[in-house]
Order: sequence, then C-alpha cells, then structure tokens
Amino acid sequence: MPDDDVPRGPARLTVLAGPTAVGKGTVSADIRARYPQVWLSVSATTRPPRPGEVHGVHYLFVTPEEFDRMVAAGEMLEWAVVHGRHRYGTPRGPVAEHLAAGRPTLLEIDLQGARQVRDAVRAASLDAQFVFLAPPSHEELVRRLVGRGTESEAERERRLATAAVEMAAEPEFDVTIVNDDVTRATDDLARLLGVRAQGGAPA
Ligand code: 5GP
Repeated sequence: MPDDDVPRGPARLTVLAGPTAVGKGTVSADIRARYPQVWLSVSATTRPPRPGEVHGVHYLFVTPEEFDRMVAAGEMLEWAVVHGRHRYGTPRGPVAEHLAAGRPTLLEIDLQGARQVRDAVRAASLDAQFVFLAPPSHEELVRRLVGRGTESEAERERRLATAAVEMAAEPEFDVTIVNDDVTRATDDLARLLGVRAQGGAPA
C-alpha cells in the first residue's frame, strides 16, 4: 500500500453513529475493505462472537471481568451498554496512536458513545467530526431491522424502540449521510475522512 498520501501529524477523528440496523457495520466494513489507509477502531465487547467474527478484527471479545478492568484502568475513551444487554467500548490507546501517526481514524459506535466522545474531544480540543448515518425512510429502517434475522423477536422489539430514540438525535451531528446505497454512502464517508480509494477498487 503506498503510504505517500498519508498525512503526518495529528489527524482528524471521525465518529459514525446512527440508528440500529441502518447499516453502520456494512459501511464501516466497506471502508475497511476499500480504504485501508483509514484506521477503523476495534471495540471491546462483552457480547459473544457471531459466526465469522474474528477477535481483534471485528471486536475484542472480552469477559465482563476484563471489560471492568479496562474501564477501571481508564483504558476506554467511551463505553456503553447497548440494547440493554452487552457492553461495548472504544479502547483509547490505539485511537490516540493512529491519530498521532496522521491516520484518519473512524469510530463506529452507538449514540451514547458518540455523546461521550463529543465531551472528551471538547475537553481535549481535538479535531473531530460527527457523522449521522440515516436510513432512506422509517419504513426501510423497520424492514432492515426485521430482515436481519440474527436476533430473537424480543431483541428486535428492543432494537426498534432504541432506533426510534436514536433517529431523534440527528440534529446533534455535524453531517448526515443517507444510506440508500452502501457504496455511495461509503464514498461520501471517505470524502469526509479525506481519503481516496487506493489501487484497483473504483470509488
Ligand atoms: P453489534 O452487536 O450488532 O455488533 O453492535 C451493536 C451496536 O453496538 C451497534 O449500534 C454499534 O454501533 C455499537 N457499538 C459497537 N462498538 C461500540 C463501542 O465501542 N462503543 C459504543 N458505545 N457502541 C458500540
């Protein structure tokens, strides 16, 4: 990978949030695949892995005890209980390291986490932007939520309720990207990150 166009010095932190099932995971996976010059933060979680998920790539799958230890040691930039169940958090160290190395850095986190990061970057006068990923419509959001099929009925109900609250948070964000097409949404996000597709894959 040519590193020539990677800016040196502190880079900008970008936080991507949005309602459940809007496609944050798909867009960030597409960023990982097509824009490898972006550092996509690897969150710690107490949730068990889903089939195909790899420790250290998709998440750091940790025990509740290890999560407690990380929080107590001040290792989390933010953390939250998501959907009333498992804990998710952003380890602070790798984010700081990649920003210091001049690499555009992306956090894909929930709304509670985004608010905590906003407070943290204000306190530290860091350069950060907050991006809201929105569904094309409420109907489409419901269709995606039900269509995923990896969770139980009760879990879907819980996520739907969370999504309604999350949609109301859009005005808190600096910019909105509508996810009606994953490739276009990813390219919009890449523009905000200040990166261009590298070799092969067209933008
Ligand atoms: P999933 O269990 O489907 O992978 O993720 C569930 C939710 O957790 C998603 O909305 C995702 O954005 C959120 N999430 C993932 N990592 C983090 C994190 O480090 N912090 C916070 N606050 N939320 C996260």
